[in-house]
Amino acid sequence: MFEALGAAGIAISMLAYLPQVAHLAKEHCSAGVSSRAWMMWLVSSLLIGALAVHRHDAVFILLQISSLTAAAAILFLGHRYRGLVCEAHLHSIPRRWIGTESER
Ligand SMILES: [Zn+2]
Repeated sequence: MFEALGAAGIAISMLAYLPQVAHLAKEHCSAGVSSRAWMMWLVSSLLIGALAVHRHDAVFILLQISSLTAAAAILFLGHRYRGLVCEAHLHSIPRRWIGTESER
């Protein structure tokens, strides 16, 4: 019963990451991607994941693997397409918000 709830939670969290990953991969658009925030997600998943592995907690291990994968994919693609923005985002966000990093 509770395992099923946990599995549903993992599925929902993966679905939440998916649009961001898909948009990056398809449109090569990094609008709104904050490398700093995703890096923090990545580190936090690693730390919590370590505890989950230590406790042999399958649901938490899976959850951390899924958020780790998503954060890594978003960081990688966000870095690769840094400063690139799709047509839709170009018209919908002010120029100064594009590329959220300090090198701009
Ligand atoms: Zn876009």
